[in-house]
Amino acid sequence: MEQHVYRVLLFYKFVRIDNPEQFTAEHLQYCKDLRVKGRILIASEGINGTLSGTIEQTERYMRDLRANPLFSDIVFKIDEADGHTFKKMFVRHKKELVTFRYGKELDPNRVSGKRLSPAEFYEQLQNEDVIVLDGRNDYEYDIGHFRGAIRPEVESFREFPEWIRNNLSGYKDKKVLTYCTGGIRCEKLTGFLLSEGFSDVAQLEGGIVTYGKDPQVQGRLFDGKCYVFDERISVPINRTEEDVVIGHCYHCGTSHDRYINCPVCNLQHICCEECEAEHHGFCSDACKESFVTVKHG
Ligand SMILES: [Zn+2]
Ligand SMILES: [Zn+2]
Repeated sequence: MEQHVYRVLLFYKFVRIDNPEQFTAEHLQYCKDLRVKGRILIASEGINGTLSGTIEQTERYMRDLRANPLFSDIVFKIDEADGHTFKKMFVRHKKELVTFRYGKELDPNRVSGKRLSPAEFYEQLQNEDVIVLDGRNDYEYDIGHFRGAIRPEVESFREFPEWIRNNLSGYKDKKVLTYCTGGIRCEKLTGFLLSEGFSDVAQLEGGIVTYGKDPQVQGRLFDGKCYVFDERISVPINRTEEDVVIGHCYHCGTSHDRYINCPVCNLQHICCEECEAEHHGFCSDACKESFVTVKHG
């Protein structure tokens, strides 16, 4: 019997916030009082957050945030869950909502790529003359991505400008499609591509999670699972018969898509159940030995 009394919200909006430090402090107190859990970033350029709570708590959160004129049209992506998907509540003030190593300021309300609905994105994916760029990190790509998408060799979003200059400069005349989890990273990424001289740039509006819920496309052409930054680690996207596992166990190489963290070096690696039991969750013999040494040495 399935029980879904909790929800996970994902949301962002680029909008000018005056006095973001004060808003951060007030918002943290508000979230604690409401007893939702999650991670929210606030900057002078807007808000970016994800949180979990009961249906009542999340309804209340959405209503209250939209009551603020700055956020009256904010879009929430809603997932059902069996419980909280976060342990704590963080609300932090940051300089930028998504950190990007680029000298110029990128304002998505001024410059960003064309927005494609899931149906439009699905259609353009099948066009042979497009470059599909995954706007996420390599470890997110490795457990699931759109078929044919380029795997960026970046471990964090800030590395994109350099990686693109080194690897994609020859494709400025091509049509480029980008996508990310919920859409926020593409807002900056497409702005960057346009300012670098790419001529035809479009982004998947609402990201992979919105695409997976679209009743028409049902996640088609997305292989594997979507990495998420909460305790679920990944969520299913493709709801058609195409659903496949595309990750590989770090130790034995069998098809698997579950990430675990090494208890010593914290390396996040895909690991099957058998190998997790055999290696006790360690990524390597070196980590296993150093753990034994620390404990008993
Ligand atoms: Zn294995
Ligand atoms: Zn390790």
